[in-house]
Formats: sequence, structure tokens, C-alpha cells
Amino acid sequence: MIKPDAVERGLIGDILKDITNAGFKIKALKLTQLSLSEAETFYAIHSKRPFFNDLTSYMSRSPIVAAVLEKDNAVSEFRNLIGDTDPSKANEGTIRAKYAISKGENSVHGSDSDENAKIEAEFHFSGREILF
Ligand code: UDP
Ligand code: MG
Repeated sequence: MIKPDAVERGLIGDILKDITNAGFKIKALKLTQLSLSEAETFYAIHSKRPFFNDLTSYMSRSPIVAAVLEKDNAVSEFRNLIGDTDPSKANEGTIRAKYAISKGENSVHGSDSDENAKIEAEFHFSGREILF
């Protein structure tokens, strides 16, 4: 996902360019907005964490871009491209180092495993919206 802080600042094109320049193929793509309850479902794993309410209100406050991306070792390659959760710790040149505002408003989401990538793709897209 391209998160609300980045969409609000007009960064959709810049971030998609970084993603495709890094060799990812876009297999599904949409601009949409999460309801609060959808954000709570998406981030349910973090429901006991102190930042959960801030995270879900931020993620539902304005539109996001959802994408399914393809590359060899896509999960780890994408996490390398986006950098650390905290932009002050993210390597130079990573998407979060370039664009993120804070550890919370960090511009992009990446799946953390192949299993969760499939669950998250199916959260955002119906079968015929994903090309293969
Ligand atoms: N987050 C936060 N404070 C924290 C940790 C995480 O606000 O201390 C937010 C942040 O937006 C992060 C998301 O919760 O991207 C999910 O956290 P996770 O640890 O899964 O980080 P990610 O996988 O996005 O790097
Ligand atoms: Mg995560």
C-alpha cells in the first residue's frame, strides 16, 4: 500500500516509479479508502499495541493505493526497497527514508511473508482484478 500521508502529498507517481525502477511488476493496482473497521481488520495483528488506535485512524483518514507486486523474493526485496519502519533508521535511498514523515506515517506498507502477502492481496482485490 501507498499510505494516506503519501497519497495526501501527491507522491503516488514518485513511489510507483521507485517500485517499477526496482524491478517489480504491478499485477494489481487501485486507489481506494479503508473504513476504520477495514483498517482494524487489516492490522488486527497489532490490536494490542499502544499505537493501534493512531494507526487505524491514520490508515482510514484518506485514500490509499493498494498494489500486488511481483518479483523474485518479492517480500524481502520490497522490504529492502522501503526500508526500516522508522524513517530515521531507514537506509538512504529507501522509500521511507525519502518520503516518510514519522515511524507511524511512513508512506508505504509491505507484506511480511508470502502467506500474509496472499491474505493481504485477497483483502484488497477480487480474483479477476489480479493479473497473472
Ligand atoms: N507503527 C507505529 N509505531 C510503532 C510501530 C509501528 O505507528 O512503534 C505503525 C507504522 O505505520 C507501521 C505499522 O504500524 O508501518 C505496522 O507496524 P510493523 O511493525 O508491522 O511495521 P512495518 O511492517 O510496516 O515496517
Ligand atoms: Mg508489518
